[in-house]
Amino acid sequence: MELSGLQIFKYLPGAKKAENSNCKKCGCPTCMAFALKLAKKQVEISSCPYAPEDLKEFFAMNSKQPQNTVEINGLKIGGENVLYRHEKTFVNKTAIAILIDTLEKGWQEKLERVRNFEITRVSETMKIDLVILKGTVPTELTEGLNVIAYEEFISLPIEIIEDTDFKSTRETLIDTRTRAINEKDENFAKPVCVIMHGQGDDLCARASFYICKYTNMLVFDEMNEALISTLMTLRQNIFTDPQKPLQVEAKIYEFNNPDENSLIFMTTNFALTFFAVANELESLNVPSYLIVTPADGMSVLTAWSAEKFTAQMVAKILKKWDFANKVKNRKIIIPGLLAHMKDELEEEIRNTGDNFEIVVGTVEAYAISDFVKDYVK
Ligand code: SF4
Repeated sequence: MELSGLQIFKYLPGAKKAENSNCKKCGCPTCMAFALKLAKKQVEISSCPYAPEDLKEFFAMNSKQPQNTVEINGLKIGGENVLYRHEKTFVNKTAIAILIDTLEKGWQEKLERVRNFEITRVSETMKIDLVILKGTVPTELTEGLNVIAYEEFISLPIEIIEDTDFKSTRETLIDTRTRAINEKDENFAKPVCVIMHGQGDDLCARASFYICKYTNMLVFDEMNEALISTLMTLRQNIFTDPQKPLQVEAKIYEFNNPDENSLIFMTTNFALTFFAVANELESLNVPSYLIVTPADGMSVLTAWSAEKFTAQMVAKILKKWDFANKVKNRKIIIPGLLAHMKDELEEEIRNTGDNFEIVVGTVEAYAISDFVKDYVK
């Protein structure tokens, strides 16, 4: 639970017009200013010598870390502070581990597949986070992997659950995290790890649920690349900070060796939009440029409504990047969602002394391929 600035203020001398009211000893001009800063965690309660004991106790209780962080050779799990990502953010993503047992047939091939596994999505490269080894393996076979011996793994200060029954695993995970966060109960402060067995039909659904609520680590005894890729994609979405949109560098990107006559597209620097458009442009056998404008990582329509994508800004950026002198093509294809900006964009660009015609492109990235086929006819 958190207190608002106003709720905190009610406890301070300023609200009661008591002695020391607005004394400035905390470094703030008034008690209200201090309360507002305290609510935003910009100052410490200890800075006010006149804060009442019950308020101090509340903050002491609230500042207690609800879930422990455990580090395994640099891999951090746990340390979560909220039940729902939108309340703040999740901290350490659910680790994905593979169990290798040297008594099992084919363990070497499994280990090799673990070593070779790698996916890249939204410019993040993801590999298996941890290999848990039962038995002895020559070190050259585990080179480049984060490895822990099984005996060491089971002695980590974490809660380990065998996933034998979905209902029971789900309830344990939710109960543990809820008690840790809401009640700050130290008995539930350990990170939780779920061990999953086999290749069952519903394995992906169960594992996906556990990533959302609320396992800190998933251990699989089989290596299934398709399953792991799906889970890592989900995990990436769940564990991005909602207050920091994924963004790419604002600049001019090139696809298929463009020249001065190549197609020109434009979008914002929201990573998901960028990669959706970039994948389409890359897969076309048509050279093209993609002008990516700075928009604090917002998608095109959000950027437009937040005035992060304005005609003036686009005109200024094109001028700054001297784009008109780099190409002979005088047509820029903008996202279909910004069709209403066509005239305004052309006018603002003209005002800077350049001359580009604005062409309205597709609303969705998947339609770019058909759009280009018609466009270059
Ligand atoms: Fe108010 Fe305490 Fe700051 Fe004095 S030190 S201004 S009483 S909050």
